[in-house]
Amino acid sequence: LSETVTAHGLAAQLVKSGALIPTGAQGVFGRGEDFSFATDGLSNAIQRLFGKDAERMRFPPLTPRGDLERIGYFRNFPHLLGTVHCFCGDERAHRELVKAHDAGADWTAAQAASDLVLTPASCYPVYPAMAARGPVPAEGYTVQVQSYCFRREPSADLARMQTFQMHEFVRIGSPEQARAFRDQWMETGRAFFQALRLPVELEAANDPFFGRAAGVMGQGQRTQQLKYELKTPINDDAPPTACMSFNAHLDHFGKALDLRTADGETAHTACVGFGLERIALALFRHHGINPAAWPSDVFELLEG
Ligand code: ATP
Ligand code: ZN
Repeated sequence: LSETVTAHGLAAQLVKSGALIPTGAQGVFGRGEDFSFATDGLSNAIQRLFGKDAERMRFPPLTPRGDLERIGYFRNFPHLLGTVHCFCGDERAHRELVKAHDAGADWTAAQAASDLVLTPASCYPVYPAMAARGPVPAEGYTVQVQSYCFRREPSADLARMQTFQMHEFVRIGSPEQARAFRDQWMETGRAFFQALRLPVELEAANDPFFGRAAGVMGQGQRTQQLKYELKTPINDDAPPTACMSFNAHLDHFGKALDLRTADGETAHTACVGFGLERIALALFRHHGINPAAWPSDVFELLEG
């Protein structure tokens, strides 16, 4: 109980200061001045510090449904995926829709699934884009990407939003290139949190798989050490929250999208993701509600 109360405490303070603008939907917030200072500042600092040797890409928060089907996201995470539905009826269907709405009934019956889904992780559009270029060059690819992501996980936990920004670095290449990149980033990530004066712990983790297979799949990920997270306290009296993740995908994306290295082998991929809202929340939680009063080195890092 105390956990929810405290989370609401931080939420209430951020709403009162105008940092977060509630929308009425759980986990969907507008960002005011102070929160934008934090998330935009983080994005710019990450770009400045780590983006030099990475190819910058920006995708809108929508992905072609066909790409997500090829990747198989709906197999493991059907509960998180948001699909875009649109009206595609005639005038008669429209009249029925309005009538149903005005009668307080469900007006969405004529909405049909479109060829788009909401992007669940900012790296997803990168793999199809790179596959379209043909064989991966010997030096591999390093890409830096950021977008809003959507996951259908409404929650009273301020740190579990339905839509949030993920800044990622993606590596595509040989198994060794992908693994070395992922492992090296764990130290780099830790140093970044040190510069933000946020306490962190590195922990093995797994993805939130759906249903009965979740236990086995999660255990498999842990056994193979495919996912690590940097966690920092955001909610009092609750376990620390994952603010950054380090993921080895092995040949999952390579196989799904026929991504091959120059020698014809299936490419391996890895990604590391900064959760900008969660890091921002950690900054407010640890340094106070007013960014101008944050430690000067932290403020300057974000101000750029
Ligand atoms: P969790 O286990 O907390 O659901 P995840 O392991 O699915 O997260 P990743 O897919 O590794 O998360 O996402 C990368 C980063 O994006 C996370 O470390 C976190 O900082 C951020 N993130 C993930 N889900 C959310 C969310 N619902 N709200 C805000 N940030 C999120
Ligand atoms: Zn990723």
